[in-house]
Amino acid sequence: MLNIVLFGPPGAGKGTQSEKLIEQYNLTHISTGDLFRKHLSEGTELGKMARKFMDEGNLVPDKVVIGMVDEKIKSSSGVEGYIFDGFPRTVPQAVALDELLEGKGFPIAGMLALDVPEEELKTRILSRGKQSGRADDQSVEKIENRLRVYFDETVPVMEYYKKQGKYHPVHGVGTIDEIFQQLCSVIDSLEEHKA
Ligand code: AMP
Repeated sequence: MLNIVLFGPPGAGKGTQSEKLIEQYNLTHISTGDLFRKHLSEGTELGKMARKFMDEGNLVPDKVVIGMVDEKIKSSSGVEGYIFDGFPRTVPQAVALDELLEGKGFPIAGMLALDVPEEELKTRILSRGKQSGRADDQSVEKIENRLRVYFDETVPVMEYYKKQGKYHPVHGVGTIDEIFQQLCSVIDSLEEHKA
């Protein structure tokens, strides 16, 4: 089993790269942003509750996020590994993920962190918003708040994985394929290490 955290600020390309990685390594994708958007579109209680946080670009409370990931892991079977995208976003979420995986006996093999300059992120998110219509991708103020939240609350997660020797930075500027190749070479080295 190969469990990976794909980390990075909003607009770093986590969703795009996840799609390619799940195919290459036969992984199951757990994107908390996608799960919340699904709840929103289905009008569930969880979705209604998450909406006010998402609309402002703030984080949904840890307890809610962790419960949703726990449920997703428990309801999946025959999985060869998970790629976590947009999760964990706080240190308590990272601790909870370690506890959830401990039960399975397969810890996180590595955290791959996409590194992209802030100005580039804003441009990418605004252009994604034009195509997808995502509410939280539309206004510069909302995007700036999401980036602030990332630097204040999510960046400490890097330190958490650094201390475990699992942090692997990857330059997130270039063509989709160039970045994908770099991610693959890190993952392949993790797999060799495991073997
Ligand atoms: P994303 O698609 O990952 O950018 O997530 C969109 C929004 O969903 C975020 O701005 C948060 O409001 C919420 N969200 C997604 N993942 C998390 C998480 N791990 N913790 C808290 N909130 C989250």
